Amino acid sequence: MHTHQRSELFIDGRWVAPSGSGVIDVVDPATEVVIGHVPAGDEADVDAAVAAARRAFDPAITVPERRQRLRRVIDAMEKRLPDIANLITAEMGAPVRIAQTVQTQVPLAVANGFADVLDTFDFEERVGNSMVLREPYGVVGAITPWNYPLYQVVAKVLPAIAAGCTVVLKPSNEAPLSVFAFIEACEEAGLPPGVVNIVSGPGRVIGERLASHPDVDFVSFTGSTGVGSRVGELAGQSVKKVALELGGKSANVILDGADLATAVKVGVGNAFLNGGQTCMAWTRMLVPQTHYHEALDLIESAVNRYTVGDPWDPATRIGPSASQSQFDTVRGFIDRAQRDGARLLTGGSERIRDIGFFLAPTVFADVDPESELGQEEVFGPVLAVIPYTDDDDALRIANGTPYGLSGAVWAADDDTAIAFARQIQTGQLDINGGPYNPTAPFGGYKKSGIGRELGRFGFEEYLQTKSLQLRARP
Ligand code: NAP
Repeated sequence: MHTHQRSELFIDGRWVAPSGSGVIDVVDPATEVVIGHVPAGDEADVDAAVAAARRAFDPAITVPERRQRLRRVIDAMEKRLPDIANLITAEMGAPVRIAQTVQTQVPLAVANGFADVLDTFDFEERVGNSMVLREPYGVVGAITPWNYPLYQVVAKVLPAIAAGCTVVLKPSNEAPLSVFAFIEACEEAGLPPGVVNIVSGPGRVIGERLASHPDVDFVSFTGSTGVGSRVGELAGQSVKKVALELGGKSANVILDGADLATAVKVGVGNAFLNGGQTCMAWTRMLVPQTHYHEALDLIESAVNRYTVGDPWDPATRIGPSASQSQFDTVRGFIDRAQRDGARLLTGGSERIRDIGFFLAPTVFADVDPESELGQEEVFGPVLAVIPYTDDDDALRIANGTPYGLSGAVWAADDDTAIAFARQIQTGQLDINGGPYNPTAPFGGYKKSGIGRELGRFGFEEYLQTKSLQLRARP
């Protein structure tokens, strides 16, 4: 069997042995077989990587130099996308049709978006008698999750390079192989030593050291709200900038008068994309009581068309949960939702294949918005359908969770949908099926996070601002 062995970390422009001897197994969630290893680094590795990133950081780096670095990384990454897609399917079970599109083409679009920003960005402006300068922030600690492994890394490392920062990256243990392939692209791009470094290993060790390291200027974290809160606490103690991209429980609000069939079809597709392992997934569908039964019929027939199974089969829409622990977590949510009185419309917590972490797409109707399923992120193929009485009720439910990452509003016309969307406390909303935009600012309200990623807004997170007060001209 083909395995992917990674025994070295990339620090200071070289592949080096980690300071300890620990390794992390990478498991294919479709077969439960170990398909590779990456090193389990430790705090000494983080310290070496941060020192290299500090040496490589040049606050006076020119914009043409940044542009060149960025373009070379994007070109080298683009060549590897087919291989990276295969690694993503193998290590986290994304179906090939998702791995070859959303998992790899979206990161490419996001990367090109940063190149476009850099071409037009104004690094100096006048504010009254001041000259305001935008300078690279410094050494960035980037901590990423497993659900879209390449995208998460691109959303941090590329704007860092564009801004002239240097980076120490800690990828998720569940899906690190695709990230190591991305680091090879950085190596091929010929970045100066120390500009991009990777230290894999346990989050509690590597992540916490990065978040508390005195020589890291900015820690950018994507992951769960619980771990994000810990990262924020450590960053606060060492007074460094922090960006947190956290969980969500986004509402797909279908208002009376909307095109119900389209709203349901797109909504179901969104909820189950990547097996529901998408932070921005619309996991609560809010349906007017007057059209509730019609909506449930439409949902059931949409879900019945979903094929679950071998991620390498091009017909598969839903692969396995990405890991044993994720699988167990999702099954626990499903069992508790049934105990809480939600009505199981389709799916359930049964393992649907003897081997692999496979669950059927699961839909609950009559979900109490205050119940665990109505409030908490599941991060699996589970949709909660919630009926509402009128627009005020829909708004109260939409805003009634601790999260605010994403969502959708469907109405008879765009003006009505936009007016409703203005009242929702969330970072991004699709209006009547408006398409995904890889350069629109993305990030959370409330416990979904702090800061924005992607495009110009995401880029600006990696810049410091300096004001020079000038004398009046004689
Ligand atoms: P996670 O458990 O919070 O882990 C995220 C990253 O943090 C991993 O690299 C993890 O390393 C590391 N980590 C773990 N403990 C740490 C600690 N004490 N200090 C510092 N770092 C630590 O999240 P996940 O399960 O990988 O990802 C799923 C979550 O991410 C979901 O909640 C989802 O909503 C969220 N998410 C948010 C966005 C967004 O943009 N808002 C996007 C995608 C995902 P290990 O692998 O070693 O545990």
